[in-house]
Amino acid sequence: MSLRLKVVASLVENGARLADIGSDHAFLPTFLIEEGRIDFAVAGEVVKGPFEIAKTHVQKSGLEDHIHVRLANGLAAIEAADQIDTIVIAGMGGLLISEILEAGVKKIKPNMRLILQPNNHEDTLREWLIEHQFAIKTEKIVYDAEKFYEMIVAEPAGEKMKLSELDLKFGPYLRREKSDIFVQKWTKEIHTQEYILSSLPDQTMSKYAEVEAYLLQLNEVLS
Ligand code: SAM
Repeated sequence: MSLRLKVVASLVENGARLADIGSDHAFLPTFLIEEGRIDFAVAGEVVKGPFEIAKTHVQKSGLEDHIHVRLANGLAAIEAADQIDTIVIAGMGGLLISEILEAGVKKIKPNMRLILQPNNHEDTLREWLIEHQFAIKTEKIVYDAEKFYEMIVAEPAGEKMKLSELDLKFGPYLRREKSDIFVQKWTKEIHTQEYILSSLPDQTMSKYAEVEAYLLQLNEVLS
């Protein structure tokens, strides 16, 4: 299993009742059950091909009693009887994760914890969480197969967490922790933006001021 998914797995509490939405081949629930970390999971998948592969994979592992593979759109995979307390949505864009949460928001109960791993648009996802009164509890960042991945753990809070623009963009915990991986991710972005700036033909273009302002923000976060 990839380092990315191993870090997602590390955020699942022992004994959790897990719904892995967009499970693809059901690698995450299979890993957690084989490690003895959890005993029950739902693997939801909306596309028939991966759903069939996940089903076969779970059957071959002899885990049908522990992992219920369901062909379903988003949180529709979750049934009340499952008593799910942890929802993982990993390996998709932040916009799609926000849409899945929005469509299934009624399924998210006060005792549930969300473990989200957006591949991009992390800021949009954080905004969705705050608007819907979730508190961000933990964040992680990893570098795997030449890409940076952020993970966000959130729980229903009953009130809006106050986050600044920098918190939304860079992560309230990640930007304060400033791990080596975090610094590498945003240093790479500084280089990209500096290149863009140097390629702009005219300093009076509105794009120029936009990139300059973004560079100031990036340097502020890394300072
Ligand atoms: N979660 C796994 C991981 O992190 O490695 C698989 C990620 S894979 C790139 C994304 C999976 O989400 C695909 O199998 C896709 O079919 C599924 N997916 C996309 N939208 C979905 C939705 N609305 N409901 C359930 N699954 C969805």
